[in-house]
Amino acid sequence: MTYTNFTVETDADGIALVTWDMPDRSMNVFTEEVMNEIDAIIDAIVADAGIKGAVFTSGKETFSGGADLGMLQKMLGIFHAERAKDPQKATKLLFDGAGRMSWLWRKLETSGKPWVSAINGTCMGGAFELSLACHGRVAADADHVKMALPEVKVGIFPGAGGTQRVPRLADQQQALQMLTSGQNLTPKKAKAMGLIHEIAEPSKLVETAKAMIRNGLKPVQPWDEKGFKLPGGPIYSAAGANLWPPAIAILRRETWDNYPAAAAILKCVYEGLLVPFDTALRIEQRYFTEIMQSGQAAAMIRSLFVSLQELNKGARRPADVPETKFRKIGVIGAGFMGAGIAYVTAKAGIPVVLIDRDIEAAEKGKAHSDGLISDAVKKGRAKPEEKEKLLALITPSADYADLDGADLVIEAVFEDSEVKKATTEKAEAALKSSAIFASNTSTIPITALAKNSVRPKNFVGIHFFSPVDRMMLVEVILGKKTGDAALAVAIDYVRAIKKTPVVVNDTRGFYVNRCVLRYMSEAYKMLIEGVPAPMIENAARAAGMPVGPLALADEIAVDLAQKIMKQTIRDLGEKAVDPEQVKLIDTLVDKHGRLGRKNGKGFYDYPPKPAKKKLWPGLKDLYPQKKPEDVDYEELQKRFLYTIALEAARVMEEGIVTDPREADVGSILAFGFAPYTGGVLSYIDGIGAQEFVAGAKVLQKKYGVEFKSPKLLLDMAAKGETFYRRFDPYAGRAKEAA
Ligand code: NAD
Repeated sequence: MTYTNFTVETDADGIALVTWDMPDRSMNVFTEEVMNEIDAIIDAIVADAGIKGAVFTSGKETFSGGADLGMLQKMLGIFHAERAKDPQKATKLLFDGAGRMSWLWRKLETSGKPWVSAINGTCMGGAFELSLACHGRVAADADHVKMALPEVKVGIFPGAGGTQRVPRLADQQQALQMLTSGQNLTPKKAKAMGLIHEIAEPSKLVETAKAMIRNGLKPVQPWDEKGFKLPGGPIYSAAGANLWPPAIAILRRETWDNYPAAAAILKCVYEGLLVPFDTALRIEQRYFTEIMQSGQAAAMIRSLFVSLQELNKGARRPADVPETKFRKIGVIGAGFMGAGIAYVTAKAGIPVVLIDRDIEAAEKGKAHSDGLISDAVKKGRAKPEEKEKLLALITPSADYADLDGADLVIEAVFEDSEVKKATTEKAEAALKSSAIFASNTSTIPITALAKNSVRPKNFVGIHFFSPVDRMMLVEVILGKKTGDAALAVAIDYVRAIKKTPVVVNDTRGFYVNRCVLRYMSEAYKMLIEGVPAPMIENAARAAGMPVGPLALADEIAVDLAQKIMKQTIRDLGEKAVDPEQVKLIDTLVDKHGRLGRKNGKGFYDYPPKPAKKKLWPGLKDLYPQKKPEDVDYEELQKRFLYTIALEAARVMEEGIVTDPREADVGSILAFGFAPYTGGVLSYIDGIGAQEFVAGAKVLQKKYGVEFKSPKLLLDMAAKGETFYRRFDPYAGRAKEAA
């Protein structure tokens, strides 16, 4: 029998080696066809009396990325179309679809022949669940071998037996931790947890797996044996009583009840461990069917999986420009940002020339990379050789002539137009004419800076966020004259350093900072209204924001907020900033010297570690305080999400961002906009434009013009449109296909 995605070779000992290697795909994923073939392979192996058992492995460097979430999206599409006609039939279809993989793995583990999974590389989601259904599991001893059940990160959960097999193999607490966080496991950690049996030299992986079968591996899972006992003890035991009540409290503390999939994991494990295995799988299947129908799952799959992948693959890149393989990159300004940019560039294996005004400053910038990579080595996250290689790629210099040969230069000097002008001129004198010049400015329009360039077509904005090594989003800013080559090179670079690019047209604050400013400004307004500061911070967290607005203001620096306010007044006039907010920030900075985290005091106090930061008690004395019971806590939450979403809608109306995928993904990666919503625009789409506009109107009456809906939203509300329909990112593709 031949298969499209697998080869099956049986050796002299009667052990079949099933190798998964999908043609035309860089990574194995589960598709309809793959599942059908695995089904047929199980039948063939069971039917062949000459086969004793089988080893399952991959022919690619990775084992598998898990399910093709496009398949899930398709299943949901069918469900929604069918539901309008026959809701019961639709649910049954979804239930059957949701259980397909689960029962296939069950068929494998009860096939009567032993199966061993030989995990040669990254093994995610459904693929790790397949491995857990095998009677033996061996992982190769290599850095690139990682195992995880990461489904919770996209709003679903491991629905092919993962919630049942993991807590039957591992200690329940560790199992819950792994399932609800989606964390990656190294082979060592997986073995320590009891999830795999052996770790083998990569070259001996298949041999080790086969040896397990030759040595008489039993084709029965522990939970199918009589007298099976859970490794952590039963649910109703002293250990269970110690684990479950706090587990539920921790879940609430971590998710604020915004993630039904995480809650479903706890329910699956708790209920599933009380019953026999087949019943447990059915419980999991029921919850999975329910979670798949949730708005959170649909929104998170779309933004955090489909759109994110598309943007990472360069969805917005002009197709007709050849891809740039970077041989050398220049970074000018080795300060806070430039040093970080040099680090991420060298980490991607690209040589960097790091220029500052003098060699000492440039070397200080390089020392930042030394610090970061040395720390990674100390924590075991990088090897000493990697440190050497990375540092060898960074050449500090004070001589612009060293930029010769660079494909791209990124300028991160002081935020001063004159300094930037001089830098551009000096750099361009040393650069080849095809080189691209990028500015990391936060506030100066790219179109204005491009006037300093002799080649404005080659001038673009590449706007990083701090800390550069941790923030995954980069805004690529288009000036009026920026050409396709510059856009393509900027996107190629962002992809090369493994970050996500979003393309933004030139405007004050670009996209991200405009939204972030609204978030903090709403918090200042609440403080001025007399809302107790802890309620403000907690309401934001409860709404799904990872960092409270006051904590965020401290991170960014309160004196920077003051500078931005002053600059805005200079540029746009007194009316552009609320005078009460200016007074609040002036009081903090000028009267109390509270600059933020950097000087240990801002909206919070920062006592020496390990003590935790605490809101500054003095905040209570700045304004007469409302009683907590007089504050509408849910309305606070709504104000935060609405004010940001309205700004994003304005950004779309102005054509600053043109693709809803970028607005959504950008909002989650840059400022953690309530990920369960799928991002700013999905949040509005989820509520529905009409209801959102009505909600905004109520807030506008009470809290001011910030909540005024832009015309675009009013129009969408009138027509019953969503952002994804109005700004359909796939419209071009559909036209091409027609
Ligand atoms: P910084 O003051 O830490 O660093 C600026 C560096 O530029 C200094 O090392 C300085 O010596 C060097 N420099 C000044 N003039 C120079 C010249 N003529 N030639 C070579 N080097 C020169 O500032 P930063 O915070 O790193 O900001 C740099 C740029 O990045 C600014 O445009 C800023 O708006 C932007 N930015 C900052 C952040 C942030 O969070 N700090 C975020 C995004 C973008």
